[in-house]
Amino acid sequence: MNNRFLILIATLGVAAFLAGCGKKETAAGDTHANPSATAGSSASQDKAAGAATAASGRQIEITGNDTMKFSVTEIRAKPGETLSVTLSNIGTMPKFSMGHNWVLMKPKANIETFVGEAAQAATTDYIPQNLKGDVLAHTKLLGPKEKDTVTFQAPKEPGRYLFICSFPGHYQVGMKGELIVE
Ligand code: ZN
Repeated sequence: MNNRFLILIATLGVAAFLAGCGKKETAAGDTHANPSATAGSSASQDKAAGAATAASGRQIEITGNDTMKFSVTEIRAKPGETLSVTLSNIGTMPKFSMGHNWVLMKPKANIETFVGEAAQAATTDYIPQNLKGDVLAHTKLLGPKEKDTVTFQAPKEPGRYLFICSFPGHYQVGMKGELIVE
């Protein structure tokens, strides 16, 4: 029962993907379907073309899921490099119980204090307003199938900068990674 349902979903997904690819001529009226398609293709172009897209920065795609892990746990950047980090929540659990965000911390931040305060900050999407100064950049809190992009400049100071999901409990079980500026 469950498996058949999943296969159906997967089949529909492939069909939708194929339909999207063959729909170039109706692209103008198809703006809702386009962002994910163009994001995917521009990301792969970026790998070939390097940092050609100056204005929006180098694109980095990260997913988060119901197992509370980021798909990317290490990002390398040049000092001051412009980066566009897109987080996609590919899980299925509701936002109130399994939301995800991507929060890049300043090195001076006390991470235990920050996640403790964050857990109390549901009304501000788990970004504690009294500790906003600990944050270099962050995305919105995302429910299932949502995505958000944050564009920022990597710190000029070489080093390792922690990024986390500040949803309660997620950092503690390993939803984190590092931006390595070198
Ligand atoms: Zn999370």
